[in-house]
Amino acid sequence: MAQKEKIDAFVLRSINYAERDVIVTLLSSQYGRVSALAKNARTSKRFPGGLHLFRKVEAIIERKPQRGTAVFVEMRVLRDFPNIESSYDAIVIGSYATELMREVSREDVESPELVGLLESFYAELDELGTDLQTLETILHHYELRLLGLAGTHPSLWKCHRCGLAHDDFDKLQCSRSGEGLLCSSCRRPGEAVGMIERDTLSTLQYYDRPEIGAPDSVLMPDIRRQARRVLDNSFKLLLLKDLKSRPMLDTVLT
Ligand SMILES: [Zn+2]
Repeated sequence: MAQKEKIDAFVLRSINYAERDVIVTLLSSQYGRVSALAKNARTSKRFPGGLHLFRKVEAIIERKPQRGTAVFVEMRVLRDFPNIESSYDAIVIGSYATELMREVSREDVESPELVGLLESFYAELDELGTDLQTLETILHHYELRLLGLAGTHPSLWKCHRCGLAHDDFDKLQCSRSGEGLLCSSCRRPGEAVGMIERDTLSTLQYYDRPEIGAPDSVLMPDIRRQARRVLDNSFKLLLLKDLKSRPMLDTVLT
């Protein structure tokens, strides 16, 4: 017996299916990631505002127990983020962050923290995203919070193995396997590490806790690239495949 339910959700993806239908992937507090078939969505008035990214919607869905895809009956838009859609850079960065969320979220798991994180990320892009530097900082702050919720946040303030404070390192290095800082004493023979500049660590710490204020190094392209590599290594612990939106992101964040 199918049950109709009302959920608050974000659209993570929509793909046209057959002549008039759309398959939508949603992120909801109640059920985490949900796939739903929106019948006749391309012609119907039951989906005002459209099934686009960067929309918080109230969705009525019909879930059948033990059947994968739900039916998406109707919706209304609760909140949109118009400034994202008027900036190419913000669209690219927002699309990448949305795809990350799609990969990291799980089906049938209550996910209020992920929903809250995505909403605050969109709001920051929408309200503060006036230049590329700021957009990039908003993205990396989001990525670190997402890594934190997924349990793979890299250690940026101390050695991830022994807890030695970063100020006491003789040389700064991070595990290539994504766990973050690793001191010389803890490094095992043959263990792959990447050396990082102190400026890179300051930049990563700023991404982690923007309230400490931006270091000058956040403006240095080489430093930002090195910081991105550290974050990418941590996401490798989590992601099973390359993201489709990544090549586009790389053309924006040079
Ligand atoms: Zn150590």
